Amino acid sequence: MNLIDCHCHFYNLQAHDLQEQLQKAQKVGIEYFLCSALGKQEYQWYRENVFPSMKWYAGIHPFYENSHETDLPQLEELCRGKEIIALGEIGLDGRNNDSQWQQKILLQQLELARDYDLPVIFHVVKNYYQLYKILKKNFPKVRGFLHGFNSACEVAETFSQLELAFSVNARQPQQDALEFIFKKGRLLLETDAPYQQPYDSQADFHELANLTHIAENIAEKLQVSVGKLVKMEYKNLQNYLGLKL
Ligand SMILES: [Zn+2]
Repeated sequence: MNLIDCHCHFYNLQAHDLQEQLQKAQKVGIEYFLCSALGKQEYQWYRENVFPSMKWYAGIHPFYENSHETDLPQLEELCRGKEIIALGEIGLDGRNNDSQWQQKILLQQLELARDYDLPVIFHVVKNYYQLYKILKKNFPKVRGFLHGFNSACEVAETFSQLELAFSVNARQPQQDALEFIFKKGRLLLETDAPYQQPYDSQADFHELANLTHIAENIAEKLQVSVGKLVKMEYKNLQNYLGLKL
C-alpha cells in the first residue's frame, strides 16, 4: 500500500511536463491519483487521456475561469455513462460575489449526485457554514470529502456530522483540527498540484511528488507513521467514495 493523492489536476500539469511529474511521483511511492476535471474542455481531455493510476471526478467550479453553467449537460452525460467517480470539485467560494449563481449551480450538481448516487468532492472558501446548512437541510445523505481543508476545528466538527472526510494539502489546518480529523479517522491527503504549494515555497508550481513531504509532515505533527495515514486513506476512499483501490 502506498500514498494516494486525492486531489490534483493532471490537465493543468501538462504545462509542467506531466509525464515527468508522474514518473517522479511514482518513484517516491505515490500509487494513485484522483483528478478534478473542471469544464467541458477538461472533461474531454480526461476522457481521451487514460492513465492506469488515475481516476477522475468532474464538476462546475464556483470560481474558475474554465467552468461554466453550460457545462451541465456534459456533466450529466458523464454521470449517466458512469465515466466519473464523483462530482467535484464543487461548492461555494467567498471570492465570487455572485452568490446566487453559485448556490443555483451547486444545488443542480448536488441533485445530480443524488440522482446518480455519486459522492461529492467539495471546494469551499470562507462560506463553510452556508454550505453546511444547505447540505444538512437538503442533502443529509451526501458523502464524499472536503478537499484542501484548512479551516478551524469547530468547522471540522460540524461537517463530521455528515458522511464526509477531509483532505489536507501543504496548507494545513491548525493542530487541533488536524488531530480531530485524525481521531475521527477521516483524514485524506492531496497535493492539489500544480496549485497550493507550501506558503514558504519558491517553486513556480506544486509538484505531484510533494505528497510524500505533506504526508511526512502530517505524520510528524500527529506523531504517527506515514503507513498509518496510508491505511486511513484506503479505508476512507472505500467508505466515503465507494472506491476499492
Ligand atoms: Zn483543485
